[in-house]
Amino acid sequence: MTKKPVIAIDGFSSTGKSSISKIIAKKLGLIHMDTGALYRGVTYFALQNCTDENRNIDIQKLITNLSQVKLEFQNIDGELQLFLNGKNINREIRFPQVSDNVSQVAKEADVRNYLLKTQRDIAEKGGVIMDGRDIGTVVLPNADYKFFMTASQDERARRRFLELELAGEKTDIETVKQNLISRDKIDSEREVSPLKQADDAILIDNTNINKEETIGLILSSIKKF
Ligand code: C5P
Repeated sequence: MTKKPVIAIDGFSSTGKSSISKIIAKKLGLIHMDTGALYRGVTYFALQNCTDENRNIDIQKLITNLSQVKLEFQNIDGELQLFLNGKNINREIRFPQVSDNVSQVAKEADVRNYLLKTQRDIAEKGGVIMDGRDIGTVVLPNADYKFFMTASQDERARRRFLELELAGEKTDIETVKQNLISRDKIDSEREVSPLKQADDAILIDNTNINKEETIGLILSSIKKF
């Protein structure tokens, strides 16, 4: 039997990378890793343990304490959920306060290096679909397949808003849109591992196509294994 593939899915915030990757993983029998969850986990740790007198994240304090951040995924009812030092933080990492701070944390080289090994170790044996911002460019440059996802800001804000509403979070569409714009800007402009399309990645704009059609497009590019 041929080795199962390694698939990298990068792209802008709220283009559906994680939910689409999860479905493809199930269809193809791959492990799915949502790398954004790791950055969110570090941010959650920082908000709990490394803030200044104004409750803002103290980046230096976070970097000094990085070795205390033990993140792991556990399979709960078929879904990988994130644990921080033994505590399930799957819900907490989606809180708006985490979304508002995550890109500031993710631009730090020490944070990125700290999370690099966890990501590469998972992909070593193949059979992985990993989504994020720098998977095809930095984490797994030799991935068998690379995709880069985009969609209009309005469509992404609309989808994210509906998702948050469904999860019971109180917010409004303009606030959601501003968070997307701000994260995309910081993620694209940072010095270390900026968000960008790898030269060999296939671009997918799903502004006008739904989740199933996006999945179909991706699957049509993947050879049988
Ligand atoms: O994927 P998600 O939107 O949950 O990611 C949250 C944030 O984590 C991103 O806005 C980005 O700042 C950071 N991130 C990153 N590199 C990755 C995945 C996520 O910098 N590979």
